[in-house]
Amino acid sequence: MERTVKLRVKVDYETYRKLKEVEEEYRGILANAIEYGLRNNTTSFTKIKAGIYKAEREKHKDIPSHYIYTACEDASERLSSFEKMKRKGRAYSDRPEVRRVTVHLDDHLWKFSLDRISISTKRGRVSLSPIFPKIFWRYYNNGWRVASEARFKLLKGNVVELYIVFKKDEPKPYEPKAFIPVDLNENSVSVLVDGKPILLETNTKKITLGYEYKRKWITAGKSTKDRDTRRKLRKLRERDKKVDIRRKLAKLVVMEALESRSAIVLEDLPKRAPEHMIKDVRDSQLRLRIYRSAFSSTKNAIMEKAKEFGVPIILVDPAYTSSTCPVHGSKIIYRPDGGSAPRVGVCVVGKERWHRDVVSLYNLMRRAGDVSPMPLGSKESHDPPTVKLGRWLRAKSLHQIMIEDKMIEMMV
Ligand SMILES: [Zn+2]
Repeated sequence: MERTVKLRVKVDYETYRKLKEVEEEYRGILANAIEYGLRNNTTSFTKIKAGIYKAEREKHKDIPSHYIYTACEDASERLSSFEKMKRKGRAYSDRPEVRRVTVHLDDHLWKFSLDRISISTKRGRVSLSPIFPKIFWRYYNNGWRVASEARFKLLKGNVVELYIVFKKDEPKPYEPKAFIPVDLNENSVSVLVDGKPILLETNTKKITLGYEYKRKWITAGKSTKDRDTRRKLRKLRERDKKVDIRRKLAKLVVMEALESRSAIVLEDLPKRAPEHMIKDVRDSQLRLRIYRSAFSSTKNAIMEKAKEFGVPIILVDPAYTSSTCPVHGSKIIYRPDGGSAPRVGVCVVGKERWHRDVVSLYNLMRRAGDVSPMPLGSKESHDPPTVKLGRWLRAKSLHQIMIEDKMIEMMV
């Protein structure tokens, strides 16, 4: 596992100038390395290095030689990701462009210590004394180690931006004693905690559509290149908001699983499938955006967090999880016109009522291999407690939410 922490350090003019010199030569080597890769149809670091090292060494006599290595690595990474984008049809040019340069460092080119960080230049080492942000200490004091590779970028006003990489080995997943199924939807996520369903509102679709509306309002009749418009668009921070929601959700679910030594059960969603769930959104770009944030990005966030804590994940086939009765194995019919509760259906055999998301949860459990008896006709199976976004975002754990919910019910 890897996390990158950004540090900004203000340096004196001398230091900045020495780093600027490195950056300029690095840019030249990088451009040649990319050129070589394209000409020889390769993305391999070893081949690129073998191909250009000698000539570059001649040209850049006094730059520390490892900069040539890291520039070749940088080129190889840029070429491979460009290839990938091209395959997906998302490359906007016929070759990777070198616009912004971040100089890559290896263990020969920089040394890390808490009082100073030194970087090699053409004129010896320069040292930087950063003030570490809180996030840095969170990794530093929690078992993450500083990796031997790092990067730097030069900003205006003699500011160096350092990218420190932290690494940590993944813990081994434990043998699960129970299951926590999680069902993702466009506006909510449902979870089974201690066998009880609960619906957490995420409003992903609402939020995305809301931002789309605001964006249209801001850009109406204006160019998106306009400075004022760009500033307003930036201030929307749609992505930040969604990332916060995803991270918090992932944390709650993973912590719950870790405490009860459970495995998390998720639908193994095909790459861009359940678009039918959001078919009322006509704009296909927008639909894809909602799909990504509600389904694939949320799933990835949970999987990533689970990996970090060694929580096992079981992916199951998503077919018919919301239309098969988990008790009778029969079909559940949802009224086509919806009525007042469009997400509640009726089992054709037992005639009991089911909420669509709760059905999915029990079916996910079954598919993961759970054989315990299913609850029949309980209130929760057709009317699960729903928790508003603002409330669960502040909650310490899913357990706490469940307890609070019970108390509210008792008071009523
Ligand atoms: Zn049934």
